Amino acid sequence: MAEYWNAELETMPWVDVERWQAEQVTAMLVALRQRSRLYARLHAALRDDLAVRSAADLAALPFTLKDDLRIAQQAASDAAPLGDNQAVTRADLVQAISSSGTTGQPLYYGLSARDVEVFADAVANVWFTAGIRSDDVVAHLVGLPMVAGGLPYADGFRRLGATLCWLGGFPTERILREMRHLRVTALLATTSFALHLAEQWDAVGSETGIVSCLRKVIGGGEPGLAQPALRRRIAGGLALTHLRETMGLGDVMPSMWGECEAEAGMHFNAQRYVMVELVDPDSGATLPWRDGTTGELVYTTFARDATPVVRYRSRDHAEVIAMRCACGRTSPRIRCIGRTDDMLIYKGMNVFPTAIRDLVTARFAGRVEPLLRLWKESAGQVRFDGAIAVDVEASAPLDDAQRAALARGIEAAVRTQLQVRVAVTVLDRGGLPRGVYKNAIVAVRDAAPAAGKDSKR
Ligand SMILES: [Zn+2]
Repeated sequence: MAEYWNAELETMPWVDVERWQAEQVTAMLVALRQRSRLYARLHAALRDDLAVRSAADLAALPFTLKDDLRIAQQAASDAAPLGDNQAVTRADLVQAISSSGTTGQPLYYGLSARDVEVFADAVANVWFTAGIRSDDVVAHLVGLPMVAGGLPYADGFRRLGATLCWLGGFPTERILREMRHLRVTALLATTSFALHLAEQWDAVGSETGIVSCLRKVIGGGEPGLAQPALRRRIAGGLALTHLRETMGLGDVMPSMWGECEAEAGMHFNAQRYVMVELVDPDSGATLPWRDGTTGELVYTTFARDATPVVRYRSRDHAEVIAMRCACGRTSPRIRCIGRTDDMLIYKGMNVFPTAIRDLVTARFAGRVEPLLRLWKESAGQVRFDGAIAVDVEASAPLDDAQRAALARGIEAAVRTQLQVRVAVTVLDRGGLPRGVYKNAIVAVRDAAPAAGKDSKR
């Protein structure tokens, strides 16, 4: 018998969920233009009696782009430190959140007291879907309380009733020891940190003499868990019963998608507070939720006081895995394909770095580690006409000839499958960074050290 955090909304036919959400959106639109100078501008042409009765009606509303939020933030003042999209008074703000800043100047978001409650409930819904229960002892490794994956994630674990062990900020060796001592049963980690853990966990067990209680890993912060080779490595290395992927967006809701026991794509779990659409990334046309459809995720918050967004272009591209699930949840199940921000143009053709990584790590599983880094010459580089520099890690020690043969084999496979030329460097195992929060798959040659400001260990 399946269990749900919010049985009514999670099992209601999706079309009915969307109809209910559309009513909530309609109810907030007029007041939104009065509360937010950003939406007074963006929605200036909307009629006051505009009714959104279905998901299709949302198309009458303009998109909100990340640049709209940046420009709104530049209007910050003493009375409105969050700028033109601060939709409550300063007295009603109880928390500020910062984006991770991986793509430029960080953006700030606000929470009212109600927003904090909403976040905690929605995030708890995702953790519940991902298999966390009140008797779990959860290690939370994000070291930065102010980012969306910091305090809001912690609030979600506490709301669910799990035991929160906030180990983020300690050195990695200490994190691993504390996890054994506290009998941690569940862990929220980036995919690459989970891999690092799978490599180190036995040694920590021998050192502490404490048998592992760890059974559940929730991966987030970087796409990748959908790769079967990576799943096998992490699950096998840690003797796990659960390995689930989650995804959210700091601008909207820190966690919105979570995998159920089917472990085959993430369900949308924020239906009580956020409406989600799928659109064609080029034309902006609304796409139907149908198995196999791919598009960009677009979000509308209808229960957000402080910094609401309407039809916000996430720049996350997703594929709909299925609209039905054995678990009984009715929300779409998706897999994240990649981000627009990471997309490269190779000889006029769009390429996601994740497509290169997924091909290489699947085809060469057992010979290379399930990680990959791709190099740009400058932060702004999008176009490549020559070979794209790519680093992989060998799974076993290799001599120079073996290393060269492996590199040539990978280059040939990528050229044949994706029509993209890459120049592969094979590193020793452990040569790529394994951060605990948001690892970039793309690195920049002329930037600061490759570890990056978010790879806190
Ligand atoms: Zn399911």
